Formats: sequence, C-alpha cells, structure tokens
Amino acid sequence: MPWRSKRTPYRVWISELMLQQTRVDQVIPYFNRFMKRFPTMKSLATASQADVLKMWEGLGYYSRARNLHKAAQIIATQYKGRFPNSAEEIIKLPGIGSYTAAAIGSLAFNLDLAVLDGNVIRVLSRLFAYTKDTRSAAAKNDLQQLADALLVKGDAGNSNEAMMELGATVCLPKNPKCGNCPLSGFCLGHQSGRATDYPVKAPKKKVPHIIVGAAVITNRKGEVLIAQRREKDMLGGLWEFPGGKQETGETIQQCIVRELKEELGIKIETGDFLMTVKHAYSHFTMEMHTYFARIKSGRPRPLHCQDYQWLEVSALRRVPYSKADLYIIEELERKYLNPKP
Ligand code: SF4
Repeated sequence: MPWRSKRTPYRVWISELMLQQTRVDQVIPYFNRFMKRFPTMKSLATASQADVLKMWEGLGYYSRARNLHKAAQIIATQYKGRFPNSAEEIIKLPGIGSYTAAAIGSLAFNLDLAVLDGNVIRVLSRLFAYTKDTRSAAAKNDLQQLADALLVKGDAGNSNEAMMELGATVCLPKNPKCGNCPLSGFCLGHQSGRATDYPVKAPKKKVPHIIVGAAVITNRKGEVLIAQRREKDMLGGLWEFPGGKQETGETIQQCIVRELKEELGIKIETGDFLMTVKHAYSHFTMEMHTYFARIKSGRPRPLHCQDYQWLEVSALRRVPYSKADLYIIEELERKYLNPKP
C-alpha cells in the first residue's frame, strides 16, 4: 500500500479519507494519481475545487473531496501548512470523524488513540463473542471501549495497524483462518465454534429506488449543454447532464421537459433515446433514462444549478462528473469520436 511508505501526516490523511467506504484495491490508483497532482498540503490548498473533484472522479462520496480541500485551506491559513498534532484539533477539521482522527493521530503522530474500523469491529466482536447489533451506536461505544483497553500505549500506530491487518488477512469475514491466528487461545467466538456468527448485524433497510430523466442537449455547433450541481446538494460541485427525478404520473420525456424548465429556464423537446444508466448509491438506487433534446425557446440560466456551460464532446472530460454521467460521456464519445465503421 503506497501510503505506508513515507508516512507523513498529509499522506496518512489523504489515504484515510480515500479508504472510507472504499476498497483498498480501488483506492491505490487514486492515491497515486492524487499524490502526483497534489504532492503537498500547499498544492492542495491552492488548487481549485474543480481540480480536486476531477482527481476524485469515480471514487464516490464526493463530500470527502470537498471537505479535504476545505481542510487543506484551513491548515494552510491557521496552522501554517502543518497538520495539527492533537486529537482535539484534528477532529475539528472538516470531514474528520472519530475514526479518522484516531487513525491519523495514531499512525502519523503516535497518539494513544484506538482505531475502530470494519476489520477491528469484526476481530473484537469475535474475540468477545459480542452479541449486540454492531451497526448500533451502543455497540460502537462498547467496542470502542474494548479497542481502547487493548491498545498498546506508546505504540498506538503499530498496535492499530496490527489489529486492522489481522482483520484484513486472518480474521476474514467468511473463512477466518483461526488455525493461524495468534488470538485463537483467547477468542470466545472461535472457542464456541461459531466465529462466523459475529459480528451480529441487523438486516439493512431496503433502500428506495428512483427514476431519473436526463437530457443531452446539443446546439448548432454540436456542443453539449452540461450543468453544475449546487454546492449544498448531493454530488455538489460535480457536473451533469441536466435533468431530475420523475414525478408520479409523468412520462420520462415529460419529466425531462419539466426539469429543464425548472433547472435552466429553457423549453426543450426530447428526441431519440440514448441510454439507461443504473447506479447504486449508499442510500438509494437509481436508473437514469437519457434522451437527446433540443432547445425550443429560451436561453439557459442557472436557476436550480450552480452554473452551466456548452462543451464539445471531445472536451466534456475537462470537468468532474459522478460515475453515472461518465457512462453517458463514454457513450457519446463512442458515437461521435470513435464511430464504428
Ligand atoms: Fe478471528 Fe479466528 Fe482469530 Fe478469533 S481466532 S480473532 S475468529 S481469526
């Protein structure tokens, strides 16, 4: 893992934010690209938000990127560019909760803070045959106390890393390698023969499914209209093909026409169907039906979006998008830039 070499607070911080809700193999290429583009705190603090989002494009949970950009600016102005080295100050930075503060504090500054990530939760709940729902706040509290008690004081970085590594390589979710585990002599889950019954997790609630209509609007020059999402909205700051959620009783085409009126103040008519994109977010799933369209009247104005612009298909990738819109760009590039003979 590249963040384990040259372990500076900056590199630990970026890697820990990227690793939230994201698999290690997915993070590695993003981390390497990010470090190349923003090698120092100063280079990140002085970058534009669009540049930071572009480097994060496709990694998901974009508030992480916006928060780390804001935090870099705070560190540059309030801490003279040096990462704060106390738990109280680290946790005040945008986008840093108790887990990330403990990880940065222990790994970068060797502060006595115990990390409680998914791997550690699995190890502890098996070790103590812990029966509460580990998604509950009460369980997180109990497990944090256990992690705090087991932390090797004065060597917190190694202690946390050993615990996380044990979860990632030995105490595996489906097939724990108890025969190779240094804790098997103390592990209540293993001794009961029911290690895989832990951690206990209440079933996840079913997430809602939404249907969205989006338009690929072209002008006479062959440019495409894209809109920037508002800062306060989900995926804020990213660009998209304008559109929105289908309302009850509407066809998709009617939805697109209404949304474009509300979002950009233009009257449009829809044309050919382009594609449907399906995508799962953490708290809902979505299918986005995309149609070509043209403006019948009006000029775009950013009413329910932050900004808009016209770009040629070959220039669309200059700005950052969410994954769903990147599929549409791929399709447009296939159609217009690399058409099959
Ligand atoms: Fe996990 Fe088995 Fe080790 Fe217990 S003995 S911590 S269940 S690998």
